[in-house]
Parts: sequence; C-alpha cells; structure tokens
Amino acid sequence: MAIGLPGAGKSTYFARKGIVPLSSDMIRELLYDNAADQRHPEWVFATLRDLLRRRLAAGAQTTYIDATNLTRFFRRPFLQIAREFGCTAEALYFDVPLEVCLERNRKRENLPAGTARDARVVPEDVLRRMARRIEPPKREEGFSRIVVAHSAPIGSRSRAQGRRRRRRNGVAG
Ligand code: ATP
Ligand code: MG
Repeated sequence: MAIGLPGAGKSTYFARKGIVPLSSDMIRELLYDNAADQRHPEWVFATLRDLLRRRLAAGAQTTYIDATNLTRFFRRPFLQIAREFGCTAEALYFDVPLEVCLERNRKRENLPAGTARDARVVPEDVLRRMARRIEPPKREEGFSRIVVAHSAPIGSRSRAQGRRRRRRNGVAG
C-alpha cells in the first residue's frame, strides 16, 4: 500500500517499476473517464476494495494499491481485507516534504494535454491541509513491514532506463 501526499511520486514510482497498481485514479478514469473527477469517493473506494478482494480470491500473489492512504482511517479497510485473506500488508511510505509535493503539483499544470492521463493539479490549500492530517504508518495498524521511500529526484540512470523502455516500445527519443 502506497502512502503519500499528492505529488509525492507514488504513481511515478510504480510506473518506473512497470507495476500496474490498483489505483483510485484508475478507477475514476474507468468510472468517469477522468481521473480528476472527485465525485462519489465512496463508489471509487468500494470498487477499489472489491477489486482487491477479488484479486486475493483469484490467488493474486501481490497487489499494489496506489492512493494517498494518508490516515489510519483510510488504510484500515485494506488492512482488514488482507487479514481476512491471511495476507501480509506492507506500507510503502512516501515521506516527501510538502514543499516538494507542492512544487511537483505545480509542474503538473505545464504538462501538455494528454501526456499523462492521471496528471492533474490538486488545489494548493487542499494539499496543505492534507499534509497537516497525514498519519505516518505504524506497525500496530497491521503492517508487517514499512518501507520509507524518500523519492530521490529522477536522475540520469532512470532517464536511461526510460530511454531503453521507450526504445523497446518502439517510441523514439
Ligand atoms: P497523486 O496522489 O496526486 O496521484 P502521486 O504521488 O501519484 O500523486 P506522481 O503523479 O507520481 O505523484 O508525481 C507527481 C509529479 O511529480 C509528476 O509530474 C512526476 O513526474 C513528478 N515526480 C514524481 N516522482 C518524482 C521524482 N522522484 N523526482 C522528480 N519528479 C518526480
Ligand atoms: Mg498518483
């Protein structure tokens, strides 16, 4: 389970590893054709939980969840499902300073339309409020492991990896 503010780099982290997580943005895209549409969060998260349960029932080895998951309250239902299925749950905590998230969030405005379908800007006051509410994950919530991702700036190595990936996919540049 990823945990981190908008702009912390959760989706980027998964994308760079070639992982397709269950993400709240993916479900918004499926429901509303728009990852930025914030209507009916209860539908979005019910769908996310249902997909998680069905993946576990189908025998999935590993499921990644990409959502902000900022407080215990939001994390608890996923931990409960893991427990129901006898699975371990690990937290991947993106401990990224608010200023960095704000900066990356601002830069999303400059992306040409259609670059990344889930690239959308979160209002700055909303992001600041979320930063005040964040509860770092604790073992006692039911996590067997907590990994802290500091989200180092994307460097030359990852750009080279990106180039290799694009070349494999037949995209120039
Ligand atoms: P949200 O919760 O809103 O989906 P997120 O945590 O998934 O946010 P990303 O979409 O992965 O955040 O990243 C936000 C922006 O920051 C993107 O424009 C991305 O390119 C940039 N970014 C992500 N990780 C890094 C990094 N390690 N170094 C530099 N820029 C990054
Ligand atoms: Mg994301």
